[in-house]
Amino acid sequence: MLPSDMMFEDIANTFSSMEGITSRIQLTQLLAGLLKRTPADVIDKVVYMIQSKLGPDWKGIPELGVGDKLLVQAIALAYGKSEGDVQKLVDKLGDPGKVAEQLAQTGGHLKSNLLTFMGGGSSQLTVSRVFDSFMKIAYATGESSRDLKLKTLAGLLKDAKPIEARYIVRFVEGRLRLGIGDATILDALAVAYGGSSAVRDLIERAYNLRADLGEIAKIVATQGVEALKGLKPEVGTPIRPMLAERANDVKEILAKVGGKAYVEYKYDGERGQIHKDGDKIKIFSRRLEDITPMYPDIADGVREAIKAKKAIVEGEIVAIDPDTGELRPFQELMQRRRKYDIEKMMKEIPTRLFLFDIIMKDDEDLTTRPLPYRRKVLESILEPNDRVVMSNYIASSDPDEIMNFFLQAIADGAEGVMIKAIHDESVYRAGVRGWLWVKLKRDYRSEMSDTVDLVAVGAFYGKGKRGGKLGTLLLAAYDPNNDVFKTVCKVGSGFTDEDINNMYDLFKPYIIDHRHPRVVSNLDADVWFEPVKVAEVIGAELTLSPAHTCCMDAVRKGAGISIRFPRFIRWRDDKGPEDATTEQELLEMYKRQLKKIEEKPQPEGEA
Ligand code: ATP
Repeated sequence: MLPSDMMFEDIANTFSSMEGITSRIQLTQLLAGLLKRTPADVIDKVVYMIQSKLGPDWKGIPELGVGDKLLVQAIALAYGKSEGDVQKLVDKLGDPGKVAEQLAQTGGHLKSNLLTFMGGGSSQLTVSRVFDSFMKIAYATGESSRDLKLKTLAGLLKDAKPIEARYIVRFVEGRLRLGIGDATILDALAVAYGGSSAVRDLIERAYNLRADLGEIAKIVATQGVEALKGLKPEVGTPIRPMLAERANDVKEILAKVGGKAYVEYKYDGERGQIHKDGDKIKIFSRRLEDITPMYPDIADGVREAIKAKKAIVEGEIVAIDPDTGELRPFQELMQRRRKYDIEKMMKEIPTRLFLFDIIMKDDEDLTTRPLPYRRKVLESILEPNDRVVMSNYIASSDPDEIMNFFLQAIADGAEGVMIKAIHDESVYRAGVRGWLWVKLKRDYRSEMSDTVDLVAVGAFYGKGKRGGKLGTLLLAAYDPNNDVFKTVCKVGSGFTDEDINNMYDLFKPYIIDHRHPRVVSNLDADVWFEPVKVAEVIGAELTLSPAHTCCMDAVRKGAGISIRFPRFIRWRDDKGPEDATTEQELLEMYKRQLKKIEEKPQPEGEA
């Protein structure tokens, strides 16, 4: 092993120690220890493995593509067993990882014969060998790819110690399930490389500017934490988007943003972060997936419209009525995500990009500049065309003028307005939801003035017509302080029969046999899920409930905040679990709702 490499056994042992630990502090300590021991050359690989990935999602690294059958074959090949025997063991133990571990323990003598036969050795597994083999498996294409995947995986297993075999198999299956979110990895890196909260802030800021945890870890490990201070966004690497707070009262919003603001249409489409490098265009979604293939028309539009050689700009991609040029609803745009025939969809559902920000121009980092400066730079490099225009806006400090603009926005098919600070500190705060941007959305004509986006963490079997089917979901809000999900409500209405029929298949990949360590719940669901899928729901009002853990004790001791009569609206596949409505936001919504009820004139005769 090169001194710059590391034994995979160290990782496997750490993963094993993590099993069963639900304390985030303990998990962080274990991880920090691991990262401290990791040589700089391979720290990116180690970080990706902890994330259960081969790289950040936006890189579009192919799936490993090892199905159940291939896995059984690889285990059989590695340990000189028949596929039937391995399958029987898998059925019995329910975990192919455990099967490989057991066979590695007991099949040592057989293994060594096979090793010689297949050209293997009794070499020890390094992180690089394991990671590079995973890459080889992922990138294997063409006719012989199945064979190549099989041999590469079997080769790894042959050389693996029992504990290593367990985690190699689980990784390949996508079932590591360590219960570790990005926030915990950031904590662990900070502990490993300094420990102060200033170091934590620096690392988080760096991650917000370059959404690649492996790369950030590598910079820290090779150049030290100080190197992060001068870090700039980079064209080609997505930056985590700046987000908005919400409020309902224009005067209150103006006070928050500093009296005067830019008020822009809040378009109801898909956020696009567009990177231009010469003629090369990449479009990243709000979740930083590469969505360029879905919007070739927008890519063409940007190539022509943006006059800088290199740039990162942001805007909302909206479906446009091909006949009238009017804005169309979000649902129409989402059809592009589902359809394969992009050429046809481009004609049926044309789109337009409404630009609202710029992050980089050539090598100039604009995130530290105030919004008016950024907007000027953006306007100066833009030659609008049919596909790409600036967002509609006014600069105002007058609540009446803003309300009129808001009503116009809604009449024009927008969702409301974004009210943005324009003072000297109105920088672009990557990855942060704050009061520099405030959204004012239209009312949904109910006491609950806005929908919320909650993560499905479990489910209950239905009754009657829905008997035997997953009919009710347990939904949770995100608590970023503890990096956990806390339950808010059960939702069973708003689903169509088709939704219900498809529910099991939809959730099958995320079913686990115990409550996920990042889920805090008082209820015992029939089925638990990994917190992955986000649902948009609305209800009649927010209520207090002792059954749910979100905002527990915050308003009243022993009660959390819940939703009365919740109704499912749609899946928000454009959001990750950490993008769900937060506990704090629900608390704010609850307080605003109370205020609204108090302000309502009471009918005569009532106190
Ligand atoms: P929502 O659930 O309300 O769509 P969100 O949680 O996806 O919001 P927010 O930060 O709360 O994200 O709202 C801002 C979103 O509004 C942006 O992510 C962007 O997609 C969209 N948007 C539309 N028009 C604008 C605009 N002019 N400026 C900024 N964001 C805009």
